[in-house]
Amino acid sequence: MPSSVLVIDDSQLIREQVVCTLRSEGLFDQYRVAHDGLEGFKSLVEGGSDLVICDVEMPRMNGFKFLQLVNSRPELSDIPIIMLTVAMDPQSKIRGLNEGASDYVTKPFDAGELVARVRVQMKIKSLQDELKRANALLKELNNLDHLTNLYNRRYLTEVLEKEFVRVKRSSQELTLVILDIDRFKKINDTYGHQCGDAVLAEIAAVTKASLRTYDIAARYGGEEFVLLLPSTSLSDGVVVAERLRQAVQAISWPAPMRDLAVTVSLGVATYPSPLVDGVESLFRHADEALYRAKIGGRNRVEAMLVPR
Ligand code: GH3
Ligand code: MG
Ligand code: MG
Ligand code: MG
Repeated sequence: MPSSVLVIDDSQLIREQVVCTLRSEGLFDQYRVAHDGLEGFKSLVEGGSDLVICDVEMPRMNGFKFLQLVNSRPELSDIPIIMLTVAMDPQSKIRGLNEGASDYVTKPFDAGELVARVRVQMKIKSLQDELKRANALLKELNNLDHLTNLYNRRYLTEVLEKEFVRVKRSSQELTLVILDIDRFKKINDTYGHQCGDAVLAEIAAVTKASLRTYDIAARYGGEEFVLLLPSTSLSDGVVVAERLRQAVQAISWPAPMRDLAVTVSLGVATYPSPLVDGVESLFRHADEALYRAKIGGRNRVEAMLVPR
């Protein structure tokens, strides 16, 4: 993404000097200007910016009011703002820093000092962005199962509780599918635990590929996966489960498992239903359906029994 700076000052001379100084160092790809706080704020909301350099005294809206507006918008509050203050006015510097400015430069400014201060702010900003990315990644990793890259049980439980509350309020449907690999113990016994792990990972990948963006797939236990399908009826959930059953059966396994026929059984349950009053009973009915799929011969999908 091209980097950009926004220079806000009512003096044309200052705007041109600031832009010219930064441009000569090639610090940004785009240079935008505004004549006062209000125009600057509009420009920021519309186009964002990596850094703002803002005058204090301006008609219509001054620099302090601009700072307040920017800080009231969480999506803008990470943008570093350097205030341009008059050298004789220490109160403005203090007030600006207290109200959220990152730094200040006094007018008339020294080109070298302006460039140095801008560089420092850009460095801080990039470190902050990196930290944010790392934190987001850490949070995501904390929710994942390492072997399959599906969500883990803890995360599923958390999401399911929230989804259930949401669905209950909005009178939408929520479908839960439990998938269990058939005779998985035999796969481990025949080919070893490592091949068993590879089978788990491959079935997880096929599962993920078969879902929509808002669906959630989690590894619930050893060889048991749970799918959470928002805004999905029982019959649509059965269609999803059946498609997944067929996709798993169609996997061609590499040597030494070439002759392996891996199948899965799935149980499907949906809220709302007179039988379901919470997460626990939704799970129980999906589990009962799964049990029927197992005793009915495995490699099949069963739905919860709906009373007539
Ligand atoms: P079925 O579900 O069809 O009734 O038979 P099953 O053999 O799959 O049944 P069971 O649930 O009794 O066995 C599950 C096996 O999954 C037992 C356990 O050793 C194995 N397992 C659980 N977690 C892992 C894992 O992370 N890796 C591997 N390789 N095996 C696992
Ligand atoms: Mg001014
Ligand atoms: Mg099992
Ligand atoms: Mg099993």
